[in-house]
Amino acid sequence: MKKHNFGAGPSILPQEVFEQSAQACVDYNGIGLSILEISHRSKEFLDILDETISLTKELLNIPQGYQVLLVQGGGNMQFDMVPYNILNENETADFVETDLWSVRAEEEARLYGKTNIVASSKEANFNFIPKNFTVDEDAAYLHLTSNNTIYGTEFLEDKTYPVPVVCDMSSDIFSRPVDISKYHLIYAGAQKNLGCSGITLVIIKDAWLGRSNRPKSKMWDYSIYAKNNSLYNTPPVFTIYTCLLTLRWLKKLGGLAEMEKRNIAKSTLLYKEIDRNTLFKGHAVPEDRSRMNINFIAHNPEHETAFLEFVKKYNIHGIKGYRTVGGFRASCYNAMPIEGVQILVNAMQEFEKVNS
Ligand SMILES: *Cc1c(COP(=O)(O)O)cnc(C)c1O
Repeated sequence: MKKHNFGAGPSILPQEVFEQSAQACVDYNGIGLSILEISHRSKEFLDILDETISLTKELLNIPQGYQVLLVQGGGNMQFDMVPYNILNENETADFVETDLWSVRAEEEARLYGKTNIVASSKEANFNFIPKNFTVDEDAAYLHLTSNNTIYGTEFLEDKTYPVPVVCDMSSDIFSRPVDISKYHLIYAGAQKNLGCSGITLVIIKDAWLGRSNRPKSKMWDYSIYAKNNSLYNTPPVFTIYTCLLTLRWLKKLGGLAEMEKRNIAKSTLLYKEIDRNTLFKGHAVPEDRSRMNINFIAHNPEHETAFLEFVKKYNIHGIKGYRTVGGFRASCYNAMPIEGVQILVNAMQEFEKVNS
């Protein structure tokens, strides 16, 4: 029986994406060849790539003047590729530290230029999103992490800042409509809300291509990806196909406005239970709670392993919290249906009855 997968990533995808991509491994569209054995320059794959890029533009409502690139190496490689392509040695990039991923991004950026942490919630174990911080007007850019995958906080507004904004949207891209025009560069690893692991979506303003003046190696240069339609070398063909199938599913369901509605309904349901249940409490402060990664802990430490054991009979998978936080984390990405969240809520209520 299929489990209710609350894992943080690689994570749940729509069931039809699993089925269609599995079928494509055997025989892609009835052509007598597997998707795994066709050329990345074949008509079949070029169509997949074109539709992936055009659906990305359509669903995110990307304005003119941006490139959509597909790059390997995950979110972590963007921690380097962004400053390498954008930041000059004598310039400063500002960072808001809202989780361990932003900490890593800032550390890597130091290899290429100067950095400045303008706000951080580190001292509070990343349980809130800093507000009212001051950005240095001379900074080359401000780096944000829109969703804190590990501790469960989220920036839910696309604000205007005095400098260009770079945003790591790895764990909440496609979960709500985004005002792309507020950003110069967005990056997001596929494996949380878009497809299987292997590709990172990069959305960059044309004007920013080639911004930094260092000589660049080809595989690290956004301009090369832009010039070659992300086909300078062999891309992960199968990963891109899973992204396309997920994007088609998103469009069929009504796009990002509909996703946002569903994500609000799911997260509200679960947070309500966390706040009501006498055995659990939430980690993040209520006003900054993430809709994607919902962290909670047990008041009684003994209930921690007990609850993980208890949920097994509900077929619930992947709710153990990240190793540095403990407790529980229920990731409720787009593909998690509200019925799955309801089962977790039922398990929490039953656990309360048995244990109080
Ligand atoms: C998962 C995640 C990453 C790391 O992605 P990799 O693809 O494993 O390198 C970076 N940033 C955020 C916000 C994430 O959730």
